Amino acid sequence: MSRLLIRGARLLGAEAADLLVEDGVIREVGSVRPSGDVEVLDADGLVALPGLVDLHVHLREPGREDAETIATGSAAAAAGGYTAVFAMANTSPVTDTAEAAERVLDLGRACGLTQVVPVGAVTKGLAGAELAELGLMARSRAAVRVFSDDGHCVHDARVMRRALEYVKPFGGVISQHAQDPRLAGPDACCHEGEVSGRLGLPGWPGIAEESIVARDVMLARHTGSRVHVAHVSTAGTVEVIRWAKAQGIDVTAEVTPHHLALTTDLLTGYDPVYKVNPPLRPSEDVEALRAALVDGTIDAVATDHAPHARHDKEHAFADAAFGMLGLETAMSVVSEVLVRPGLLDWAGVARVMSIAPARIGGLAAQGRSLSAGEPAHITLVDAEREITVDATTSRSRSRNNPWHGRTFRGAVEATVHAGRITHGRGETSRIHRPLKTAKPGADL
Ligand SMILES: [Zn+2]
Repeated sequence: MSRLLIRGARLLGAEAADLLVEDGVIREVGSVRPSGDVEVLDADGLVALPGLVDLHVHLREPGREDAETIATGSAAAAAGGYTAVFAMANTSPVTDTAEAAERVLDLGRACGLTQVVPVGAVTKGLAGAELAELGLMARSRAAVRVFSDDGHCVHDARVMRRALEYVKPFGGVISQHAQDPRLAGPDACCHEGEVSGRLGLPGWPGIAEESIVARDVMLARHTGSRVHVAHVSTAGTVEVIRWAKAQGIDVTAEVTPHHLALTTDLLTGYDPVYKVNPPLRPSEDVEALRAALVDGTIDAVATDHAPHARHDKEHAFADAAFGMLGLETAMSVVSEVLVRPGLLDWAGVARVMSIAPARIGGLAAQGRSLSAGEPAHITLVDAEREITVDATTSRSRSRNNPWHGRTFRGAVEATVHAGRITHGRGETSRIHRPLKTAKPGADL
């Protein structure tokens, strides 16, 4: 039997307690005096949260193992405190069949560092025309519940309607990358506004996102099905979602750490590390996104972790690939921009980074409370530790890290996935094993 004692953690930032974990399950919470061999994780002063869940990552395998693999992405996830990540379907080949989804599931299980949950494509080959094998993916061993053409918008309203109808009976959800291709075409790479004009970069206007979200919430209402808005980036989208939720429409939404913290002004140096889709927006949008996350209009933080090989990212701005890393830094960004200013407490962080994304993605064993009988997926955060991000030490295979050189207060100290320490071992003096207690052999 594997046994782990997490000693003195502040549960959701409140009172301190010990957590005794046996065979992947939390057995006891409170003041625990264990006997026999037990690994001890000294969590004195650390905040304990349910393991983090990320609805939106790109792990690049199969097809672009030069940028990331399921193994390196899983390691980055564990280092970032994640016990489950949803792997987007825009790989090569695309995850648009049951076999492809099961392959991603199996590769994730073989790594064992985090739960890798395959996202299925909405349309075959992400081409936007013909529905993929949604039902077969749902009935496969991978039990796919989240479907997305992410990287592409499901722009055909008829296809979107059919997809919503199709996933409804089995409780699936369509995660939409909202980008009207006529309003923001493939070259659009910078928020359309004063900065794009000055830099001479093709603009990506907020309305290209907002108009699709407005259409999709109406399609969700019409079909009685469930839509999720990926990486919300504008105040206008927030208004649409707020309205839709007030009508009782089944819509949820996510926001990325970079859209909560970075603005379009960073583009003035033409540094492609800041090129992302949707683009960084002005500070008014950033303020609206923070407020929406706090008041629950936006449900979850998702990283859109998007590793890229150097030869794809280090180009002139207009030619560089879209996307930035996010898994290892998300908690530090959220701590710095939301917790420290008093916008969110740790229970709020648990809500937006674990509980809500687990519910949206249909993961029954994630996002649970830290109480006896629950699965032991636990993230331990040092709220006071100051870190300076160093892109060269990332577990990710890629280096397109927009936070390089920035200092944050608050960092993940250790991650426990299914009762096992998946991050922290060897990097912290807090782990001791085994502990020989005064009463060896006593029952527990
Ligand atoms: Zn996207």
